[in-house]
Amino acid sequence: MHRRLIAPGALAASLLLAIPASAASYSPGAPGIGDPYYPAYGNGGYDVSHYDLRLKYQPQTDELEGTATLLATTTQDLSRFDLDFLLDVSEVRVNGAKASFATSGRHELEITPAKPLPKGTPITVVVRYSGVPSTKSAYGFSTWHRTPDGAVAADEPEAAWWWYPSNDHPLDKATYDVSVAVPDGTQAISNGTLQSTSSRLGWTRYNWRSNKPQATYLTTLAVGRFDITTGTSEGGVPVVNAYSKDLGDNDGAARASVERTGELVDWLSGYFGPYPFSSAGGYVPNTTTGYALETQTRVYYSPKQFANGSNTSVVVHELAHQWYGDDVSLKGWKDIWINEGFARYAQWLWSEHEGEGTAQELADYVYASHPADDAFWTVKPGDPGPDNQFDIAVYDRGALAVQALRNEVGDDAFFAILKGWPKDHAYGNASVGDFQKYAEQVSGKPLAALFDTWLFQPTKPAAPAARTVSIAKASAAPAQPKSWKRIAATNDLHAG
Ligand SMILES: [Zn+2]
Repeated sequence: MHRRLIAPGALAASLLLAIPASAASYSPGAPGIGDPYYPAYGNGGYDVSHYDLRLKYQPQTDELEGTATLLATTTQDLSRFDLDFLLDVSEVRVNGAKASFATSGRHELEITPAKPLPKGTPITVVVRYSGVPSTKSAYGFSTWHRTPDGAVAADEPEAAWWWYPSNDHPLDKATYDVSVAVPDGTQAISNGTLQSTSSRLGWTRYNWRSNKPQATYLTTLAVGRFDITTGTSEGGVPVVNAYSKDLGDNDGAARASVERTGELVDWLSGYFGPYPFSSAGGYVPNTTTGYALETQTRVYYSPKQFANGSNTSVVVHELAHQWYGDDVSLKGWKDIWINEGFARYAQWLWSEHEGEGTAQELADYVYASHPADDAFWTVKPGDPGPDNQFDIAVYDRGALAVQALRNEVGDDAFFAILKGWPKDHAYGNASVGDFQKYAEQVSGKPLAALFDTWLFQPTKPAAPAARTVSIAKASAAPAQPKSWKRIAATNDLHAG
């Protein structure tokens, strides 16, 4: 009570004089952004709006040199903050002034600016670094993939630590300029559009720009001997693809699939709305890993995806992610169903289009293929846990849940939801709960029980909950749809 004897203004003024700013309210940003699946991923205290990465890479020795310039804004009174990074840092500057830095945790670069930064301050962080990415690991693994002629950074949920410092979580999306110098005769591939190239003293520099918000894990780099093709889809979307010159027997099938990117982007636009980015495309390096990944605007495909011939299904899956995952990104990694359930469902729609089995037939087949005691049903697509994040159930049971939603709300509402969602949350982040709310709003139906049954129960949905799936009423086991094997082989991270 006695404080009331002092005028509030006078108290504030005396506090400001008496206590140095850093001791009053300034504190370090959190070493993680708050994702329960990955507590150390991302960081607190600031929000990045743009990354400018100026790199030089020597494929023979795997030596990477870089200067990363991050434009960000503080979100608290900040005495110190982290970036997620593994390479060797030689200098850090914050707003032009040298900052001190140290490493901590598994992948934290702790930066202490010369002066504490008040909340809401625009900051420019420059990090100079170098290193041999293939010699670095965290948690005992590396997602930097060397190839005979270069390297590839394309992985999930972590890929950035090996090549640029970042706030490594989809919650902090930003635009990118990625400029990479490589020896003449070698190409560098990244996201967005190729703004220019220049050559000097045996090195060629590739300047890529991705001008829409992009998650860190969707930012990709590939260096190698590539053949780059360009074109424009009938719908007007510029397409840039790249193929390793060393794909051998897979070369024809890779091109016969990925060269259809423009056609498939236009086809998917019919379901999901206008393509959200300035360019589309994919690249096929000569990696030995088996998966594909929806790296924004420029999809990564392992050559193994084409080992059995052309595969438009995987192209449809990764392009569907451009809307479901890239344009609208997850809020936390537990929301992975919004990515994988819908990218898988797009494959089902493509199967139907190709006359290789309807979405309902594929749903029936998934439902019938897994008996009630199959561990498949213990994975909850709506919250699978970090160990099961990319389990096949997230894909197949996830798409089954999408079909259950379709049957519950009817085709008109379902396709309105499918197309409206990317527009409603454009370039943002959303959770499974947000999706349920949106679907309820569009359909006018309460959907809590449906979502709970299909996404959040560790058991096989039984009749009457399964009434929406026709197989629950069928007496004979459904035949395997023609597209089944190809679709089943598309499972980001685990295919091949
Ligand atoms: Zn996927």
